Amino acid sequence: MNLQSPLTYIKGISTARVKLLQEELGLYTCEDLLYCFPNRYIDKTQFYKINQLVDNQSDVQIVGRITALKTVQQKKGSRLVATFQDDTGTIELVWFRGHKWFRESLKVNQPYIVFGRLNFFNGKFSIPHPEIELVSDQKKGLQPKMKPVYPSTEKLTSKGISQKVFRGFITSVFHQVGIEIKETLSSEIINSNQLILRKKAFFQVHFPDSPNELAQAQYRLKFEELFFLQLQFLQTKEARKTKYKGYVFESVGDYFNTFYTNHLPFSLTDAQKRVLKEIRKDVASQTHMNRLLQGDVGSGKTIVAFLCMLLAIDNGFQATLMAPTEVLAMQHYSSLSKLLEKMPITLELLTGSTKTKKRNEIHTSLQNGSLHILVGTHALLEDTVQFKNLGIAIIDEQHRFGVAQRFKMWKKNTLPPHILVMTATPIPRTLAMTLYGDLDISVIDELPPGRKEVKTVHRYDTNRLSVFHFMKQEIAKGRQVYVVYPLINESEAFDYKDLMDGYESIVREFSTPTYQVSIVHGQMKPADKEFEMQRFIDGKTQIMVATTVIEVGVNVPNASVMVIESAERFGLSQLHQLRGRVGRGADQSYCILLTGNKLSNEAKTRLETMVTTNDGFEIAEVDLKLRGPGNLMGTQQSGILHLKIADVVKDTFILTEARKEAKKLLDSDSDLLKPENNNIKNRNIELLQSSGNWSNIS
Ligand code: ADP
Ligand code: MG
Repeated sequence: MNLQSPLTYIKGISTARVKLLQEELGLYTCEDLLYCFPNRYIDKTQFYKINQLVDNQSDVQIVGRITALKTVQQKKGSRLVATFQDDTGTIELVWFRGHKWFRESLKVNQPYIVFGRLNFFNGKFSIPHPEIELVSDQKKGLQPKMKPVYPSTEKLTSKGISQKVFRGFITSVFHQVGIEIKETLSSEIINSNQLILRKKAFFQVHFPDSPNELAQAQYRLKFEELFFLQLQFLQTKEARKTKYKGYVFESVGDYFNTFYTNHLPFSLTDAQKRVLKEIRKDVASQTHMNRLLQGDVGSGKTIVAFLCMLLAIDNGFQATLMAPTEVLAMQHYSSLSKLLEKMPITLELLTGSTKTKKRNEIHTSLQNGSLHILVGTHALLEDTVQFKNLGIAIIDEQHRFGVAQRFKMWKKNTLPPHILVMTATPIPRTLAMTLYGDLDISVIDELPPGRKEVKTVHRYDTNRLSVFHFMKQEIAKGRQVYVVYPLINESEAFDYKDLMDGYESIVREFSTPTYQVSIVHGQMKPADKEFEMQRFIDGKTQIMVATTVIEVGVNVPNASVMVIESAERFGLSQLHQLRGRVGRGADQSYCILLTGNKLSNEAKTRLETMVTTNDGFEIAEVDLKLRGPGNLMGTQQSGILHLKIADVVKDTFILTEARKEAKKLLDSDSDLLKPENNNIKNRNIELLQSSGNWSNIS
């Protein structure tokens, strides 16, 4: 008999009920029951004064007296209303049913304790159907505690598994002879983090003596959960590092040095230098680099990528850069061509629309090694694309590619090439460490000097004319403007129609010959797209009407106004990405968020966030709070969605502490061999076995 024993071992439980708990709540073992945490607690340890009550409070307990009782007629039947008063104010107690009985038994001007859900309506507080008890009666009973409320279902309740019965099951687990709730952490970690013991934590989380003890119990259990999660991430990463050897880029050679001293068009920011050093350390050692490079839009990731490629070429390797869209791949290709102007390095572009003849040439030169750098889209992943010796693969804008694609890149060689994943959708650092357990992380947290913050405003559709007016003023100063329409799904005719309508109204307002307008969208042929993009890049058109295809990467420093249509339909990170298209030159730039009049609360928060901050990390944090971690890339694999008590968004402090401890532990006892770490080792094995993750570590 232990925690892994099935529920049938619990005293007095019928097989029918065991089956119900399995089916309805997925509970199989005694341990499952322990981990079935209350959704909330009915807290009868706290008393409130009426003037302390605030809106949105749920359960409250108040001592006071009834000063008046009246029956109020309403459309259907009537309700009984009691005026309830303490020395700080009054509220109403309301009964819609059974008020005859209450009317007769309630005593006016006697001290009562009431408990219930607080309602706030028309500026007044009330409690419908409160629990109510004379103070004198309550004193006779036991002192109340915090009562747990467990998750339940209609079926469970109807089959007699009430809250009370459920509490009984949990109590049995604690009292069952033979069940031992073992400690899983070392005394060292328990003491230095001031944690309570595991057994006590489980008891207090189910039957807390006070809010304070509940908080301690929750902290301990969250800490433990996050600690083991982090421990496994760190172990996996370590295992990967020792298992896979990487190519060694031993020297910083001529290409790198020549470019760095003679052709670098600006000096690198400190952040860029630091990141380069981190990368260099990886590729110069025997380890295989698998690194995530985070940096806000415009922070200058491309040059870092480029220098890494030079490092590879210096050491006799090839390099590749993969972008999520054709437009972006073309843009990368042309900016790399410019950087390479005075260097004897070969560069090609491969996309879905590369002609067969060209494609074959590329294949040949890749295989005989005469091609140094290949830039492209998903087309790079095709099996026919084989390198002679690919040393580094750089993947831009990670959020468009999945983990599977990263792995495909690995298979292009005998040894996996070094992988550098670049993303402009920053993730809060603690979360990034959790999500990308298998990646190392570098951050460019500094923008090149001289950038002005983009001024962002929110305007309603009805003010469109003044927005047009503003666009004309800016164009008169020689600037260029983007007007972006949402395209949730490129095939949706509805979105497409919005775009075309918008385009027509812009062409009407900004007519030739004074104005030239470009349009780019997903349904155009790549050659037409490129033509239109180029006209805008060359300054031949002043306005670029586009769908979100320009979202990633496009670089036109002279564009200083970004108008986003139906901005309420975009997610925060998308808005931030779009805004990053302006503010790249020396001029003051603007972002105008146009919306309809009806906005959801969430949309309002998104718009407000955009207006108040330009900081990508801050924005990412809000985004995460709004959407939850489920929408973030990588969450599925990382297991953080299956946490039982911790919440990666709310518990980042605990997450950081737990990670620190896990790291410290592995640094001092990497295989958990020291006797004082026995508890941890045993629990870790137990968890690995139950998750089927065992092979990762051993
Ligand atoms: P992102 O990180 O969004 O990919 P880019 O690499 O496209 O940013 O860089 C944005 C712009 O900033 C480019 O025009 C680039 O040439 C310029 N840039 C990058 N690093 C620096 C720097 N250290 N000093 C000045 N300009 C820089
Ligand atoms: Mg970029």
